[in-house]
Amino acid sequence: MKAALLEHAGRIEDKPLRLRDVPEPTPVGTEILIKVGACGVCRSNLHMVEGDWLPATPASFPIIPGHEVVGTVSAVGPSVSHLSVGDRVGVQPIWATCGVCEYCVSGREQLCRKRQITGETRDGGYAEYMLAESAYAYPIPDGLSDTEAAPLFCPGITAYGSVSKAALSPGKKVAVLGVGGVGHMVIQMAALTGADVYAVTRSSVHRAVAEELGAVQSYSPKGEGGSFVADAALDAAIVFAPSDASVAEAMRIVKPGGRIVLGVAQNVGLLDIGDERTVVGSVLGNRQQMRDVLDLAAAGKLRSVHADYPLAEANEVLGMLKAGEIRARAVLVP
Ligand SMILES: [Zn+2]
Ligand SMILES: [Zn+2]
Repeated sequence: MKAALLEHAGRIEDKPLRLRDVPEPTPVGTEILIKVGACGVCRSNLHMVEGDWLPATPASFPIIPGHEVVGTVSAVGPSVSHLSVGDRVGVQPIWATCGVCEYCVSGREQLCRKRQITGETRDGGYAEYMLAESAYAYPIPDGLSDTEAAPLFCPGITAYGSVSKAALSPGKKVAVLGVGGVGHMVIQMAALTGADVYAVTRSSVHRAVAEELGAVQSYSPKGEGGSFVADAALDAAIVFAPSDASVAEAMRIVKPGGRIVLGVAQNVGLLDIGDERTVVGSVLGNRQQMRDVLDLAAAGKLRSVHADYPLAEANEVLGMLKAGEIRARAVLVP
């Protein structure tokens, strides 16, 4: 099979991904083999390819990146009971977890210390075929194409996890800081709770996208594009803009007692305990939350804005992402 293989990390301008012929893997036990129909391109893929992602990531070289994968089951291991050849499925960054630790048994499997990560500790979806663990593969609703569904498997679940931690309900006011691949889904999901959504982004293009997707107001923290939100005006803020300034803005606009959900690793600064704000981190989500995301998309309540490219252009697409030239989500099609 053809795969965009990362043999060693390097600047994306030097095209570190090489399109190679590699042996098609064989599923064992409870694994399945997926013929990949689409794989989303995540900023974390760019970081891993350039060697500035998490320590010891990828786990080894060579590795096939890609963790927003949708395709068709083409073979099943001997112990697979609930999926068959021909089923359409998707895989999220959590490739598998241990199933027995305190996190796995309490609905927080995304925190499992033994988790396997698609495209980082296991080969991912920048390829014609990919192995998956059947218990962590999700049937794709009929109404969704492979390319539409792929971004649900990282931006979608990431957005859902963050909104679930913001304690939203009808009439609450929430800011979403950063309107990229994840942020544009956060806005839609936050609006579905009945909360009033304020989008905060420097880009005028993204402000238009935010209002199209249900934000009641959008503004630039730099002062362009309309009014500011007053100090301590909102119940919650969800931050996906990777800057300390965005976290500072979130702290400014959230009321005492409110919640700030961080989907990016940034400095929080001095926390005024007298205001009793809660700051919480958020990463991905569990399997039931992933199913909820797919149900929302199947019901037409959530849409992903995506653009499709051939797998052979993986380096070029990551280069465009680095240059800020991708509007929402790029999807590779083998
Ligand atoms: Zn991702
Ligand atoms: Zn576990």
